Amino acid sequence: MPKIERTCQQCGKVFCRYPAYIKKWGGKHCSNECAYKSRKGRKQSPEIIEKRRISLTGRITSDETKRKISEANKGRKLTKEHKQKLRIAKLGKKQSVEHKAKIKKAISGENNYNWMGGHERNMEQQRVKRREGIKTLKGRYADYHIKNSIRRDANRKLDGIKISSKDIPPELVELKRAQLKITREIRKCQEK
Ligand SMILES: [Zn+2]
Repeated sequence: MPKIERTCQQCGKVFCRYPAYIKKWGGKHCSNECAYKSRKGRKQSPEIIEKRRISLTGRITSDETKRKISEANKGRKLTKEHKQKLRIAKLGKKQSVEHKAKIKKAISGENNYNWMGGHERNMEQQRVKRREGIKTLKGRYADYHIKNSIRRDANRKLDGIKISSKDIPPELVELKRAQLKITREIRKCQEK
């Protein structure tokens, strides 16, 4: 028997099929792709959903399939009604001990979004900070120490009036540095 010309209901392309094929498969679409597209978004009747549910109950899903399903569902947005349904379904249901433990394991320690790398990393960071701090201060003659020393002296003398280290002029810092160095030298000599 010759092939019969048909028009695809999805894309409008003209294609040819044998009558036997049309009898078996309907011959409405030019390709599987078009058949899937035509089915997408279409609501299934409750009978069909029920039928599928019965055929699927008791079937064991392999780990591979579970992984694939999880991969496909990632980032998928649920509709408001869907979320509401889930909420109602979960209401009053207690989580099993194993489930709770699983969740805890998944969100604690290294898996937590707040994880910074643990105690060892914190200690290393502190060590780095200290090392760099020492580098910038350059010992006891650093501006920071000298300004502090001037400020302490001044605050002691200036009965109640506080001065900030920002107000100390650089000349004064230089002078104090020289003074400190001299005092240190004198002390060294006395020790000898
Ligand atoms: Zn088509």
